Order: sequence, then C-alpha cells, then structure tokens
Amino acid sequence: MPVLDAHLESIFDEVVRRNQGEDEFHQAVAEVLGSLGPVIRKHPEYGDAEVIRRLCEPERQLIFRVPWEDDAGRVQLNRGFRIEFNSALGPYKGGLRFHPSVYAGIVKFLGFEQIFKNSLTGLPIGGGKGGSDFDPKGRSDREVMRFCQSFMTELYRHIGEHTDVPAGDIGVGGREIGYLFGQYKRITNRYESGVLTGKGLTWGGSQVRPEATGYGLVFFVDEMLRSRGSSLEGRRVSVSGSGNVAIYATEKVQQLGGVVVTASDSSGYVVDEAGVDLDLLKEVKEVKRGRISDYADARGDSARFVAGGSVWDVPVDIALPCATQNELDEAAAAALVRNGVGIVAEGANMPVTPAGTRVLAEAGVLFAPGKAANAGGVATSALEMQQNASRDSWTFEYAEGRLQQIMRAVHDRALETADEYGVPNDYVAGANIAGFTRVADAMLALGVI
Ligand code: GLU
Repeated sequence: MPVLDAHLESIFDEVVRRNQGEDEFHQAVAEVLGSLGPVIRKHPEYGDAEVIRRLCEPERQLIFRVPWEDDAGRVQLNRGFRIEFNSALGPYKGGLRFHPSVYAGIVKFLGFEQIFKNSLTGLPIGGGKGGSDFDPKGRSDREVMRFCQSFMTELYRHIGEHTDVPAGDIGVGGREIGYLFGQYKRITNRYESGVLTGKGLTWGGSQVRPEATGYGLVFFVDEMLRSRGSSLEGRRVSVSGSGNVAIYATEKVQQLGGVVVTASDSSGYVVDEAGVDLDLLKEVKEVKRGRISDYADARGDSARFVAGGSVWDVPVDIALPCATQNELDEAAAAALVRNGVGIVAEGANMPVTPAGTRVLAEAGVLFAPGKAANAGGVATSALEMQQNASRDSWTFEYAEGRLQQIMRAVHDRALETADEYGVPNDYVAGANIAGFTRVADAMLALGVI
C-alpha cells in the first residue's frame, strides 16, 4: 500500500468500507491513488469537485441470476455481473469474463482499470466490465450456447451501442460473442452491430481484433525499446498463459525477430528452447482446447513440460505476463531480476502483485502496466465500433496500422506524462496520471453527476 495524501487516504478508506472483502478492487484503487498525489496538489479543482471520490464509485452495478440447463437436463445456476463504472468519455466499454473466480471484487477491479486504460487510448470510450462465475471448461458447445443465451436474456436491457458495449475477456472469445450477439439480435429484433465487439468477420467484426491485445502489447514493448535505441531482434522472451493474449503476443514477438521460449496454463508451463511452435500451440489450445502438456508431448525434444512451478524461473530479457491477475509475485520478480530481465510488460490485467512491482522498480527494470501495455485490445474494439457505425470494413493492413499508431501514442503519452511529473521512465505513474486527467477533465466539464 503506497503512502497517500490525507484526501486520497480518506477516499481509499471509504472504498474499503463500501466494498468489503473485495481485495482485487482495493489493490487496483490503491495502485492508481498511489500515483495521484502530485496531480491533486497541482489541480485542487479535482479535489474541490470530489472527482476521485466519484470515480471510485461505479455509476451502476448490475448483479443477476443466470439459470440454464445442462446436457443432462439439470438446471444450473450462475451469477452474472455488469459494472458500468464511468461514462464521462463515452459509452461504457469493457469485456466479459467467464471464470469460476469471478465475483464483484474481480469485476470492479477490471472495470476500474478499464476507465484509465480506455482513456489512455485517446478514443471516446468509458469504462465497464462484466462476467460470470460460469466455468466453460469441460462444457459442451451447446451448454456454452444455452448459458450465453440466458446471460444475454437479462443483459440485453442494459446495453446498447450508445450505452454499454461489452466484448470478451478470459473465457469469452469469438464463439461466446457469437451466441451473445445472436440472442441480443433475436430479443431486440435489431441488427445493432455496435452493441458488442469481438464479432466474427462476416457479421460485423474487425480485422485484427482477435490479435489486438497481444500485438498491441508487443508494439508497446517495441516502442519502449525503440525510444531507447534498441529493438526486439534476437531478444529472449517469456510469455505466460496460452490464451488469446499469449498466442498473439508470441506471434508478434516472432514477427519482430524475438524468440519466445515459454507458454503456460493452470496445470504448468513449457520451456521450448527452439522457440514456441505457434501452429502447434494454436492447434492444442484453440482447436482442441487441450492442456499445455499436450504441446510438449507433440513437440518432442526441444520442449519440456514443468508441472506447477513458476514460468518466471526461466532466464529471459523480456517477460510478458499474459495469463491473469497476481500471477507474478515478489519471489517471481526476484527470480526474473536475478536472471537479468530488462523489461516486464503486462499483457493480462494486473498480473504483477504490488510487491512484485516494487522489486522490479528497485532493480531498475522497465515496467509497463497493463492499462497502457494491453490497451490494444479495447482500442481495436473502438475501431470495430467505428466500422460498425459507418457500415465499413477495413483491411487487415489498415486496422493493424491504426493499432500500431494508437500503441505508439499510448506509450508516448505515458512516458511524457511521467517526465512532466518528474518521474522519468515511470510508466505506472505516467499511465495512471495521463489516464486519470482525461477522465477527470471530462467529469469536471459535465458537472456533478
Ligand atoms: N477485455 C479486454 C480488456 O481487458 C478488452 C475489452 C474490450 O475490448 O472492450 O481490455
């Protein structure tokens, strides 16, 4: 917990009191407030209008029952969430996460992060997040469909292209967005493409959206290196996870001349000294929905599967945590530092713990927080919304070019803001302050609402 000014301290205490037991949300709020001391000293108008206090309270919180029938005809029950956190800059925008760990604290932390991330992209999108404690693992396609239909049967009345625009997150990919969009269209009798992003290419989706978070992360890292006269060429990189973010981060590192030597899932990790074979990884994880050990079995000699353990024990130049929150702790950070890591950039949301971040900072490791480094996903969602609004469909090259420009701008905004506030190279402070001031100024302009 960083030391806070009295004003910020009282806001933090209120957040803890109002949201008891929601540790991940407290962690995300503390991280942002920890950067805002110099901002409220420079801009007393934010304090006068209680901008930060208002920002920490979601505009609207929805919790709903999601009943559905499994393949055996039994009634199953899950809980659905949508936290509409802040709409000062545009419609609420943020993904849906389907994972057994989902509860209010997870959705709020993600929604809170999303406000600043979306602001940093410079695009007109507010912040929100949703999901369910539904576990898609081991469920048949039809079960996933029935769950998505039931989830949307409640959610549809709260969303809309000008209101709230969900997308995917962990456990929600193209398949789930398809079932959700189908049900929305059926209930409303409207082909409202802009109500969800992450859609398929033939029904309103955008080129590069599946790749965007991973590609954007690597564009961001490339920018960190480029601005210091270096590049990804020949760099050894570790990636955790094996979902959408991890796969496309790996792809872009390889395209830019780096070597990714790891992948992981909840059962363990693989080290592949020859460099991860992406076709095989996609086949195992995306087509067969199998385990990461299947990758090692199929790959042969160059790859080794380690059950449990920490992927962060593998020596690398650059580490990209792309799995989930709090996956890289103090001990893992210390191991990376010992092995000479130079850059850690977050592909997942809040994957590095506060203690882990401190270890990296003390060792002088360049650290890119997720709200800057993984903003490419939501930014490309906003590009999908643009295409939907104009009934247009861009080429892959054009969409990727736009993504790269946006990531460059996010990088520069964070770095320049860090300079402006006298903390050069501190991407955490730069991202938090730059993300915050854009939302805060909009909130001031819109009055006390
Ligand atoms: N779930 C992604 C994120 O964490 C993307 C959200 C979106 O595209 O709306 O930013």
